[in-house]
Amino acid sequence: MTPDAILARCRALVAEPLGAIATRWRDGHPGGRAVAVYPVWAPAEVLHAGGVLPLALLGGGSSVELTHADARFQSFVCSVAKSTLELGFQGHVKGVDGFVFSNICDVARNLGSIYRRNFGDAVVEYLHLPQNSTSPAVVPYLASELRRLAATFEAAWGLKVTEPALEASTATYNALRARIRALYALRIATPHRLTTPELYTVLRAATLAPPDEAVAMLDTLLATLPEREGRPRDRLRVVVEGAFCEQPPLGLLEVLEDAGCYIVEDDFLLGWRWFRDDVPTSGNAFLALAAAYVNRAVASSTRHESREHRAVGLIEKVRRAKADAVVFTPAKFCEPALFDYVLMKQGLERAGIPHMIVEFEEKMWTFERTRNEIETFVESMLFE
Ligand code: SF4
Repeated sequence: MTPDAILARCRALVAEPLGAIATRWRDGHPGGRAVAVYPVWAPAEVLHAGGVLPLALLGGGSSVELTHADARFQSFVCSVAKSTLELGFQGHVKGVDGFVFSNICDVARNLGSIYRRNFGDAVVEYLHLPQNSTSPAVVPYLASELRRLAATFEAAWGLKVTEPALEASTATYNALRARIRALYALRIATPHRLTTPELYTVLRAATLAPPDEAVAMLDTLLATLPEREGRPRDRLRVVVEGAFCEQPPLGLLEVLEDAGCYIVEDDFLLGWRWFRDDVPTSGNAFLALAAAYVNRAVASSTRHESREHRAVGLIEKVRRAKADAVVFTPAKFCEPALFDYVLMKQGLERAGIPHMIVEFEEKMWTFERTRNEIETFVESMLFE
């Protein structure tokens, strides 16, 4: 199969409502369930080990009009929270058996409660992720929280998560993350072979497909992409940072690249490539996953990390991707991203790395102003 054929399949999957994907999965896996997880991270391995298909719950983008959610949230709340709620009211997630939210911010906390109150037919669980990375108690605490999550779904549906099953699922997700890392490495090396809107679509499809199918699809893509036609252009290599939860419109990514950038690193769909390397699979599986969360996770605005400055992970990313600059893309009203922006900006300035900021929201229709700003930024760097 060619990269273009794979991309066409990915686009079709991404366009389907989550409820339809969940229903198809259950029809093909009698007794199985599908659970949608809100960003940024949730233990897909734990769900998968119990016979559940994990799905990314990422709001409605530009596909839903807000007709009910506005009445449940203040006007100064990010779009992804509102459109995720709207998906429920408009029936787009009907067929999904459960939802997982976590304590990434106050908005997400409330969203979990509102879901539970309004969509009582589904199992809605809330994961309390640790906010302390140095206490010796943190790993056992998180392991017990992961066991509690598994117990909730076992109590609801009788789907037990055993240690061997969790080890096998961890290996499956290690394989998926390794392919995603390889795809990112390929884009760093040859960004002209795979545009960022294309990479994003593939990644998003990987969060909706059964993980073994996603691995097979990525293997084919990785094998065929080096043969794809493409001519390198003289563009600014940038890291896009700040879109770890609400996802930017594809139009914005297209404008960024059309205006003279190669996006060579980003933080889209971060929860699905959360670990820097493989999670160990020999030994206590819950404890291993919890320890990986504390010690092997990527830097993120929603994971409190007291051991290093917030800019360190970003600067490392810039160096690794051989990038020239950073484009901050916080979603409007996203407090974690906007608070971190100040710290990251200071760190980049100390390191002499140029940057600019482009705020976005899901329903952004015109990008002309953004295009002008990016073109000016690119020209100031390429022709200075
Ligand atoms: S976009 Fe930001 S504010 Fe909104 S739910 Fe996500 S982390 Fe919270």
